[in-house]
Amino acid sequence: MTIKLGKLFVLSGPSGVGKGTLRENALNGIPTLKYSISCTTRKPRDGETDGVEYRFISREKFKEDISQGLFLEYAHVHEDFYGTLKADVVNELEKGNDVLLEIDVQGALQVKEKMPDAVLIFVAPPSVEELERRLTGRNTESSESISVRLNNALKELELKDKYDYVIVNDDLDSACEELRKIIL
Ligand code: ADP
Ligand code: 5GP
Repeated sequence: MTIKLGKLFVLSGPSGVGKGTLRENALNGIPTLKYSISCTTRKPRDGETDGVEYRFISREKFKEDISQGLFLEYAHVHEDFYGTLKADVVNELEKGNDVLLEIDVQGALQVKEKMPDAVLIFVAPPSVEELERRLTGRNTESSESISVRLNNALKELELKDKYDYVIVNDDLDSACEELRKIIL
């Protein structure tokens, strides 16, 4: 008997570019697609719930999980640690389900090294000015946090050629459709 493994899709791009929006659209429109909930040491934002957006854990627990080799990938992003649990991804792929990760560029490149069949998708902004507008408009970040995120965005954009696909998120509907076509 042959077992059909699911496919792993990795969505990355600068903070504020619209990854979360695209991810929600893909998950709502493709019921068989599973999202892997990351672990993070960052504090929950208003409205976020442990186990829904992230598993919010302490730095101590994060370090313990690193030393036990539990992460498929992890990275220090902006000011905190973020990581994907290996077991979560492998269990779903082995059930034949496609899995979507929404992680930063450092993590995405680690995944590609460990799982070369993973499909890497970079979401780019139409311009840096528009990215700043979206980050500011979202109203979730302090001005310091926005400048950290914009600085990191410039470095992340330099790595987009390492991805299998680049989606420019200008018109939201078109970007959602492009993502859907890649996944299906
Ligand atoms: P990320 O998850 O990449 O940090 P979000 O999905 O939170 O980004 O999007 C950041 C902000 O930009 C949100 O307020 C969202 O509604 C808005 N946004 C997303 N895509 C577009 C788009 N194509 N055009 C205009 N605004 C957008
Ligand atoms: P936020 O704090 O805005 O939710 O996320 C900040 C950044 O961390 C985003 O670029 C997001 O893609 C990234 N991120 C979220 N989860 C993970 C993860 O598990 N691993 C890595 N490497 N990055 C992650």
